[in-house]
Amino acid sequence: MENSRIHRLSEDVINKIAAGEVVERPASTVKELMENALDAEASHIEVQIIDGGKTSILIRDNGCGMTEEDLNLCYLPHTTSKLLSADDLFHLMTNGFRGEAIASIAAISKLTITSRTEQADEAHFIKINGGTREDCGTNATPKGTTFLIEDLFFNAPVRKSFLGSDTLEASKILDTVTRLALANPNVRIDYKANGREIFTGVEGNDLKSRIAEALGSGVAKVMLPVDYTEDGIRVSGFVAPPEAFKNKRSRLYFYVQKRPIWNSIMTKAVTRAYEPYGKENAPTAVLFLEMQDTSVDVNVHPTKREVRFANENAVFLAVHHAVRDAFQKSAKDCPTIRLEDITLGALPSGKTECAQDNQVAKKIAAPTSFATRETPNFTASEPAKPYHSEDPEDIIQDLFSLPEAGNVIPLTPQSFNTPAKMDKVSPPQFFQLAKTYIVCEDSEGLLLIDQGAAHQRILYEEALQSLENQGTLETQELLFPELVELTTIESSFVPALIPKLDHLGFHLELFGKNTYQLRGIPRELILSRAVAAVHEMLSSIAEGENVADPTKETLAKAWALSNSYRAGDELGTEEMTALMAELLATQDPMTSPSGRPTLMRLPIADINKRFKR
Ligand code: ADP
Ligand code: MG
Repeated sequence: MENSRIHRLSEDVINKIAAGEVVERPASTVKELMENALDAEASHIEVQIIDGGKTSILIRDNGCGMTEEDLNLCYLPHTTSKLLSADDLFHLMTNGFRGEAIASIAAISKLTITSRTEQADEAHFIKINGGTREDCGTNATPKGTTFLIEDLFFNAPVRKSFLGSDTLEASKILDTVTRLALANPNVRIDYKANGREIFTGVEGNDLKSRIAEALGSGVAKVMLPVDYTEDGIRVSGFVAPPEAFKNKRSRLYFYVQKRPIWNSIMTKAVTRAYEPYGKENAPTAVLFLEMQDTSVDVNVHPTKREVRFANENAVFLAVHHAVRDAFQKSAKDCPTIRLEDITLGALPSGKTECAQDNQVAKKIAAPTSFATRETPNFTASEPAKPYHSEDPEDIIQDLFSLPEAGNVIPLTPQSFNTPAKMDKVSPPQFFQLAKTYIVCEDSEGLLLIDQGAAHQRILYEEALQSLENQGTLETQELLFPELVELTTIESSFVPALIPKLDHLGFHLELFGKNTYQLRGIPRELILSRAVAAVHEMLSSIAEGENVADPTKETLAKAWALSNSYRAGDELGTEEMTALMAELLATQDPMTSPSGRPTLMRLPIADINKRFKR
């Protein structure tokens, strides 16, 4: 033995090394112990610190508690009730699993643990000083567990010297408490620093109310819901609209399987989603990722704070799309177009409450042409009167008739006969039927509009006009180009089409034999439909007469078919209103470019007959 320089480290040294990894600072102690309390299914956790946690940290929970035996084991290294086999490492049901935290904390502090289970008659406590048990006994503490940590790093002076000011350490603790509080809105959490109440989260909350408690009601109020799944990754939670917090610090709270994590990929994915709206906008988000346990490794960092994803690209895309999706949905939900504006020609004076992106801007802008269109039917001076023919122009007239007063007439037969009521009337109401049709009333009865066919008509004319004027339709560049596999036949004619596809907003680049990279798609197209749209576009072009040199009409039709709303797409009121306004502004509002009817009327007279009136 004397010749050997190598020897096993003593248990004490091993624990101190481990402590250095797990317990970086007071905040990491708070994190580990709060997580233990959550694992113990506590519904109430109290955290109290003195002097940034350097003097003392107290964490009390009302969870399952420990028996006397468990209490005497829990502070020893590698003791855990959570991990039985190495396989469990990959299934993260609990927060802890390494059995290191308490041993690490015990090694570098003066620790008192008091615990009592439901069944026990009394609570047991132990006192540990620098890893050594010094005292034990019983008392009358109620069910649950209390950790009191005093003099953190008292026997590790070097580590202690690395700590920041009390204020800095306290702010790190507050951040830890906030992150865990957001992940567990149902748990009551009370946090006090130097005797002062800093944070209180009531029990049984939902995430939105917890956000109000943790980040302020101003933040909670504007937050947009996120719920999006892509590639087996579910992203849920809340994001602030892009322009809500200008020139502020970004506030990002990320979780994987409900664990708080730091991850630069997720930060980038969210930040990128905000960027198009201006650099000064502060990303603010509380986002939860759920994915298969095998897609994420939480075991790369002793404090389990950093994670490694099996497919970082998929995580980036899912998060990025989730945030963009939330922005876009909110843009749809807000009142961007009022029918009065459309019919009066006084269109959105540029500003709408939450017009947040080009897509919306475009939707808003589109009806302008409708409003300013020179159609005799729309002259404001012409008094409204009921029409009784199937002439398409008449239906248009009915839908958006303009009284002298300049107000919109509701589409009820009576309203046409009682002009006195005109002042107080509301615009036409649209409903969606089977997520396929738009339903509304006109003076003649019930109108049914096929949303897909109607949208195709609009898009067809838009594309045709752009092709005729040699214009280019707006594109959204894809951050991560998608690959499109073509059939041999498609590959044979696609090269000749590339410039035309470019004009229509589809940017394709040869990537390999029969494979193209899709680098940009039309502005209005939803990303998840991009690749399918290319295939649809190509197959409808292939139906035309000259595949290599299709007519403008063929191209416009193919574009319209591949970009339009589908049966099953949910449309909001504003989208329906915009769609109707745009449809009625087209040259041929009654038929789709494929010759299908876009709208149908069920006359009141027929309905009356059926009810035997
Ligand atoms: P781990 O959490 O990785 O299992 P710890 O060192 O944090 O390791 O805890 C060791 C064990 O002590 C836990 O597995 C658990 O059984 C018990 N324990 C710790 N904290 C609590 C608590 N607040 N309530 C009940 N049991 C606890
Ligand atoms: Mg633990």
